[in-house]
Amino acid sequence: EPTVLSAKEHGINPNLLSSNAIRVTQTLQEAGFKAFVVGGAVRDLLLGVKPKDFDIATNATPEQVKRLFRRAFIIGKRFQIVHVMFGQDLLEVTTFRGTVTDGAPKDEHGRVLRDNTFGEQHEDAVRRDFTINAMYYDPATQTVLDYHDGIADIRKKTLRIIGVPEARYREDPVRMLRVVRFAAKLQFTIDPATSAPIAVMAPLINNVPTARVFDEMLKLLMSGHAMACLQQLRKEGLHHGLMPLLDVVLEQPLGEKFVTLALANTDERVRQGKPVSPGFLFASLLWHQVLEKWDAYKASGEFPIPALHLAADDVLNRQTDALALQRKIGSDMRDIWAMQPRFEKRAGKTPYKLLEHPRMRAGYDFLLLRCASGEIDAELGEWWTGFINGDGEEREHLLTVKP
Ligand code: ATP
Ligand code: MG
Repeated sequence: EPTVLSAKEHGINPNLLSSNAIRVTQTLQEAGFKAFVVGGAVRDLLLGVKPKDFDIATNATPEQVKRLFRRAFIIGKRFQIVHVMFGQDLLEVTTFRGTVTDGAPKDEHGRVLRDNTFGEQHEDAVRRDFTINAMYYDPATQTVLDYHDGIADIRKKTLRIIGVPEARYREDPVRMLRVVRFAAKLQFTIDPATSAPIAVMAPLINNVPTARVFDEMLKLLMSGHAMACLQQLRKEGLHHGLMPLLDVVLEQPLGEKFVTLALANTDERVRQGKPVSPGFLFASLLWHQVLEKWDAYKASGEFPIPALHLAADDVLNRQTDALALQRKIGSDMRDIWAMQPRFEKRAGKTPYKLLEHPRMRAGYDFLLLRCASGEIDAELGEWWTGFINGDGEEREHLLTVKP
């Protein structure tokens, strides 16, 4: 019953496929199984974009998949998937999943808690979120299988949820964040029926485990279109008061300029293919909370450096659980913040020591954001730009000129 499109009809450029994706589907097919590239990768291929990663769907069970590859690991409790590794490259191989049955365990709001039954390919397609994310590509025959008119929606640049929108959001409220992210990132419009229930159903997001919301928000903030996503979130009625993380981003009377600059900067880096660290991102998002507390500790008589550490502790203690921040992200944030006063010591050996700091680059980028937002004098950032790029003589000279 799916529409089958030939290479001529869908126009996918086979050169955009990774050789490892071809290797995995081919290995599975040679062992007698069905295997397709699926989901976001097919969507990107149809849009002429090189996918950043490839997911594979198959009718082989996780155990059967694992046996076919040298480095394959079954992971996950909720849904078992197989990670197949080739060097640094990781592919996710998922067994076709069955329809969500009426008997599937749910929380009191209707969110599906567990549904890890295997199923037929057409059932797997129904369970996916949007029509444009529910297509299958077979690299061997170069055909696309389209179960829900995804091709038409790609051409119309429309995001449409599969099935009854209210029911799908109830099953998994995170889909409301996903639709916003894809709309902003792909510059697609959200079909009215898909968009209509969001404003009303938005509070259901509160019942989703924080870690899952965090993962989805992180994808949103690091999509390269964070600013557009946030505007779209507001437009769909997913505004502050809904999630602690959104409050942090949107409720910053003092830090709004800073956060806006930080996100614009992140978007720019992502689009240039430069790495973005969650630590840097969250250090920016929470900086004005740190500043406020830092001032308060200084006002109560603490010395500046211990005051900054106390302020950082306060903010991290309060936000680590609320935002489900991982320990590593927290310690990166602390490093970036703690480095800031050290940039003010422009004499003796201190600046040279700072150059050796393993997180120097992040600390300096952070300093530049503080300058750009008007929080501190731009002169300090310029001095450091000169010092970092200067040769020995220029550095010595910079250390002698009094700002
Ligand atoms: P990206 O390019 O951002 O990775 P993606 O479409 O690949 O986009 P993933 O989160 O990697 O997004 O998910 C892979 C696929 O799994 C999706 O394309 C979709 O088919 C399915 N999927 C993911 N999350 C859900 C969900 N919450 N509900 C239903 N299907 C989902
Ligand atoms: Mg993906």
